[in-house]
Amino acid sequence: MTTDAIVIVGAGQAAGQLAASLAQEGLGGRVTLIGDEPHLPYQRPPLSKKYLAGEIELDRLFVKPAAFYEKNGIGLQLGKRVARIDRGSRTVILEDGSGLPYATLVLATGSRPRRLPLPGSELDGIFYLRGIADVAAIRARFEQGKSLVVVGGGYIGLELAAVAVRHGLKVSVLEQAPRLMARGVGPLVSEFYEQLHRQEGIDLHLGAAVQSFEGRDGLVRRVICNGGFDADIVVIGAGALPNVELAQEAGLATADGILVDALCRTEDPAVYAIGDCTSQFHPLIERNLRLESVHNALEQARIAAASICGKPPPAVQVPWFWSDQYDVKLQMAGIPSSYDDAVMRGQPGRRSFAVFYLANGALVGIDAVNRPADFMISKLLIGERARVDRAKLLDEGVAVKDSRL
Ligand code: FAD
Repeated sequence: MTTDAIVIVGAGQAAGQLAASLAQEGLGGRVTLIGDEPHLPYQRPPLSKKYLAGEIELDRLFVKPAAFYEKNGIGLQLGKRVARIDRGSRTVILEDGSGLPYATLVLATGSRPRRLPLPGSELDGIFYLRGIADVAAIRARFEQGKSLVVVGGGYIGLELAAVAVRHGLKVSVLEQAPRLMARGVGPLVSEFYEQLHRQEGIDLHLGAAVQSFEGRDGLVRRVICNGGFDADIVVIGAGALPNVELAQEAGLATADGILVDALCRTEDPAVYAIGDCTSQFHPLIERNLRLESVHNALEQARIAAASICGKPPPAVQVPWFWSDQYDVKLQMAGIPSSYDDAVMRGQPGRRSFAVFYLANGALVGIDAVNRPADFMISKLLIGERARVDRAKLLDEGVAVKDSRL
């Protein structure tokens, strides 16, 4: 028996967008989403921001309401895990042993927190933050006056620290690198965030590599790291690893992500992969990237949808990302790993500035703090590989767009 079924494994941000794009093309009735979490596809960014702070309700997280899937005939198998893929018979096999045939398979399995296998890491009170269930567990321990130790000074750890300190917890952040968010922003921006978090009352330690956790009666009590930090709760934010095992076991090529071409196809023409689990060549950045961002999840979903429908893909965009900490919005575009010049405009002291990254006179990246207009125009200029006048970028009196040479 032949099938025209489109099976999507994973029901996260990328899967939700793909289902919506396919429904728009009238293909909803062919689609089944299989996800191991018990929820409709949802957005994760608020998990370390407004949802954690209790400022928005659960239903605001969902990509689409339940009625959308019903109306478009999209099948949902939630709370179910795919155990393996049989590419020979084009079937996915669920953990309960049932099989689902596909004509087109899309892997949208996301990523998972990198675990720290340190002594004591099995103690109760130590958490990672990836899903709705994690927020429920962390929030249940969020009590004023309690001590929280955040291990890792990346976006997720810092966003969580900001919410917690405003909630009245005593918060320490331990980062083993010499600066914050080192993988994502330049040193000037790291320095700004270091001061910001200290001003807000965070006990911040850089160059601090955690050695172990100590507990009493099975509950975490101290984090050992050049001395010790009292802890009622520990949250670890030490990066993420792509969920590539299903693809690997099915014999598909992976290298820090499932390898996909410009149309998000794996080497098997019947199998696509999208979102955090992929590694793809980026024509603007000129190397393979594995991006963990909403923008990438949405873009790759749109590209895969176009390809499945036999339509031309949308134009490639400059990668971008954002982070909200206190009242400060950070927006980043480009991957400025090989810049040779950094130019700042604005005033960090006023919590409003931008750092532009240049390579051979062309704009290759921006980190913008509470500067949405500078961010938007810079994103366009980066996409055009525009050459810019350094002096004009520095001059607040000249619009960023007018710095183009
Ligand atoms: P996911 O949303 O992770 O979805 C993958 C789903 O597949 C998961 O539900 C997973 O459990 C499921 N799955 C995996 N394997 C199987 C299997 N075998 N069978 C069934 N199901 C399976 N990005 C930004 O751009 N800005 C932000 O501010 C930002 N903040 C974030 C804050 C937090 C706390 C987190 C965790 C992430 C944040 N991100 C942010 C990153 C962004 O959320 C991810 O890039 C995005 O969710 C990726 O979407 P995805 O669909 O690839 O993966």
